[in-house]
Amino acid sequence: MKQYKSRNEVPENEKWDLTHIFKNMKAVELKINNLKKELKELSKQVGFAENSNALQNFLDQYFIFQEEVLSLELYSFLKLDEDATNQESLKLKGKIDNFGNEIEINLAFVIPTLMRISKNKWKQFQKENKNLIKYNNWLMQLQHEKEHSLNAKTEELISRLTQTMNSYEDICDTLIDSELDYGYIEGEPLTSSNYRKWIMNENRDIRKKTSEQYFEVLKKHKNTFASLYYNYLKNFNEIAKIRHYKNSQEAALKGSNINEKIIDQLIKTTKDNIKPFHNYLELRKEVLQLDLLHPYDLTIPLAKSKKEYTIEETKEIILKSLSILGEEYTSIIKTAFEDNWIDFANYKGKKSGAYCAHIYNYHPNILMTYNGDLDSISTIIHELGHAANAMLSKKNPSYESNTDMFLVEIASLTNEFLLSDYILKNSEDKQEQLAAIYNNLHLIKNNLFTCIYDAELENDIHNNIFEDNYISAEFLQENMLKHKQEILGNHVVHGENSSVGWTVRTHYFRPFYLFKYATSVCIAASVASKIINKEESFINKYLDFLASGSKKWPLEILSDLGISLETDQVYVDAIKYFDELVNQFRNIYKEVNE
Ligand SMILES: [Zn+2]
Repeated sequence: MKQYKSRNEVPENEKWDLTHIFKNMKAVELKINNLKKELKELSKQVGFAENSNALQNFLDQYFIFQEEVLSLELYSFLKLDEDATNQESLKLKGKIDNFGNEIEINLAFVIPTLMRISKNKWKQFQKENKNLIKYNNWLMQLQHEKEHSLNAKTEELISRLTQTMNSYEDICDTLIDSELDYGYIEGEPLTSSNYRKWIMNENRDIRKKTSEQYFEVLKKHKNTFASLYYNYLKNFNEIAKIRHYKNSQEAALKGSNINEKIIDQLIKTTKDNIKPFHNYLELRKEVLQLDLLHPYDLTIPLAKSKKEYTIEETKEIILKSLSILGEEYTSIIKTAFEDNWIDFANYKGKKSGAYCAHIYNYHPNILMTYNGDLDSISTIIHELGHAANAMLSKKNPSYESNTDMFLVEIASLTNEFLLSDYILKNSEDKQEQLAAIYNNLHLIKNNLFTCIYDAELENDIHNNIFEDNYISAEFLQENMLKHKQEILGNHVVHGENSSVGWTVRTHYFRPFYLFKYATSVCIAASVASKIINKEESFINKYLDFLASGSKKWPLEILSDLGISLETDQVYVDAIKYFDELVNQFRNIYKEVNE
């Protein structure tokens, strides 16, 4: 795939089209001015919950306002991700961030006021004004955390005092991504964005050098990193205490009505069933012909297909892989390719990585960098899973259309499993088949097994901070090493550098988020196998699942799909499937190499 010098050179069919959100900067400015006026209006309505008509008017306006604000936020970050050096986009981002703070402060009274509406009063309001019935579900879910909400003045204070909380992550990113100097590899500067390329290099010496250079630099700054994480998480834990949560796990999960015991069960089940993961590490040693693995031997793919695919071929493969989900689903995918929802191009200045961004009033947009390999197809089919999920959820009103973070990765990971299944069944090329199996192994290894030690370390950190203990770099180092060794066993040699991996694990800024990948990958494996085996009426149930939005709690939505997290079955099944994949890989690998 061609590497362009700048975005201006990229042909239209490789770029996303954002004019559906705003035609130009002038339209953006106009929108900001209008919304500032609306904000003034809304902020005057402090007594909006005094009678049923005022309440209905306020909520109707409030939700429309929220969606419009989201369109500004979305547009500004998509523009910046197109090209981080674009001064106009940088200025817009700053402006929108400030406006966001202004909104938060001016509307800080809204949620506490809604929280204070008593059940009886709400029943009476709905009787008086039938137009309020549509908000019933939404309000009940909001009031679920009623006991943890504080009065309006305190909420405003918290908003004001926590405005800069995101700066910890920003400082961390600035250090990792632009300020630290990691030296050169093969004449090229080593950076956080090309680290992955080098650490996956087939040449072991290059991998070793990459790992050593990278972590040597991070290690020098470990106290700075520890202090950034500690200070952010200290704030998070203090707010949890002020809101009377019994621990920060509860504070992070109560909004989804998920019991924090789920994390403990996931960790325990995975550790009790760790054998298949060790079989996988054995397989890795066999394929790489090594007696012992070092951390830098864990990232290199065990199989790679040399095939290259055009964007048109990618579209065909993706449509065929997902055709099993039916017409409604595949028509969304077709439109995504045909109506420029996806930004494929490769040029300097574009944000690395991949994501799908979506809000209610507009179709989703996907950012990625297309390399023409099987990984690119996996990336696109993953992001299209988010896009289809978002489109199907639009069957709900805006305030009930968001898929909970606990469920959000299921649609995307399921698609990746379906892609591998399609390739395995339809490709004659053994190398391509191995790459497809490896993709599934990698999904489960990355999202389940290696998430577990991060989840355990995260538990340690929060439990200690909640008890008012300080978290030092030594604490993070020792505990990370301990948990890693428990999962990886004696298969991996840990040098000093492998215990500073926490320095770059910026997901700690999104507390208790990572374990959701672990539950999701297990659920997705189960969903995909039911789809592939054409279990009766399951596909319809799955499409309903994708369209369910937030009408119900995540665990209820899962239960409608026939999946329960009350028992550890779904985890045990996923690990068993992982074991089968290890054996399948080994057999084909032997065939190819004999
Ligand atoms: Zn995703």
